[in-house]
Amino acid sequence: MKRNSIEIVEVGPRDGLQNESLAVATADKLALIERAIAYGARRIEVTSFVNPKKVPQLADAEDLALGLPDRDDVTYIGLVLNRRGAERALAMGRIDELGAVCVTSDSFGIRNQGQSADDSLAAAIDIVALAKSAGRSSQITIATAFGCPFEGEIALTRVVEIAKRAADAGPREIALADTIGVGVPSQVAETVGRVREAVGDLPVRVHFHNTRNTGLANVWAAVAEGAATVDASLGGLGGCPFAPGAAGNVPTEDVVYMLERGGVATRLDLSAVIDAASWLTGVMGRPLPAMVSKAPIFPG
Ligand code: ZN
Repeated sequence: MKRNSIEIVEVGPRDGLQNESLAVATADKLALIERAIAYGARRIEVTSFVNPKKVPQLADAEDLALGLPDRDDVTYIGLVLNRRGAERALAMGRIDELGAVCVTSDSFGIRNQGQSADDSLAAAIDIVALAKSAGRSSQITIATAFGCPFEGEIALTRVVEIAKRAADAGPREIALADTIGVGVPSQVAETVGRVREAVGDLPVRVHFHNTRNTGLANVWAAVAEGAATVDASLGGLGGCPFAPGAAGNVPTEDVVYMLERGGVATRLDLSAVIDAASWLTGVMGRPLPAMVSKAPIFPG
C-alpha cells in the first residue's frame, strides 16, 4: 500500500560526486550538505570510507566528517565496504550511521569491492555488528538488485534470500539498489513487495539510477509497494566508477515534485531544493540532469 509520506536520503555528497572527474573542494561538499539540511534533508549520505586511490573524489572523508555541522536532528551516513572502512568511519564522532553494501553477483563484487557476493554479505554483517558495538546505527544495501552489468538478470529468489540474511543481522533497514539503472516499474513493484514480505517489519529503502530513464517511474512503483525511504541526489548527479555506463541518481527535485504532487509528503522544500540545484550547477560548471529545476515552477 502506498504511504502518505516517505523519507528522502540525500546521497549527492557521496554517490552524486564519487564518479565526477572534477575535484570538488571539501568546503563545497560541506556547503552542499548545509544546503541539503536547509531544504529539509534529515538523512544524508556524506561520504565513503574506501580506498582513496580507487575513489579519489572521496579521499577527504575524514576532513569532511570533521567539518560536518553539529546537528542532533540530522543523521550522517558514511558508506563502508569492510572492517577497515568501518573503523575509520566509527573513529569520526559525527558519522551517525554506517552504510554497508553487499552485491548479488561475484563478477560485480570483485570489480566493485574486491569481494565475492558471499564475502560482501559477510562483510556487511560484520559492519552491522561493529556499528552496534559502537552504539551507532547501520543499514545494508543490496547493490545490483535489479540486474548486473556482467551477469545480466539476477533471480529475484536470490535477492530475497540475500535480503533475509541481511535482515537477520539487525540493520535499521534493507535497501535495494539499481546500481546500473536497468530496473523497470513492474520488476521494482514485485521485488519491493517480495523483499518486504521477507524482512518483516524492517523498512525498505530504494536507490535508483536513471541510466535508462526509468528512475522516477521506479520510485513511484517502489513507494506504491510500501518502500519507506528513497535515495536521491541533488540535480541528478551520480554514477558508479565500477559499473560501465551508469548514469546519475534520481534527482532530488524531480522526486520531490513527483511525490508531493502525487500526495506523498517528503518533508523537503521544493523551492529550496531548486535553489540548491542552481548553486550546484555553478559549482560543477555544467548543466545537471534534473528536469524540474529547468522547468517553470508549477503551480506558480
Ligand atoms: Zn548508486
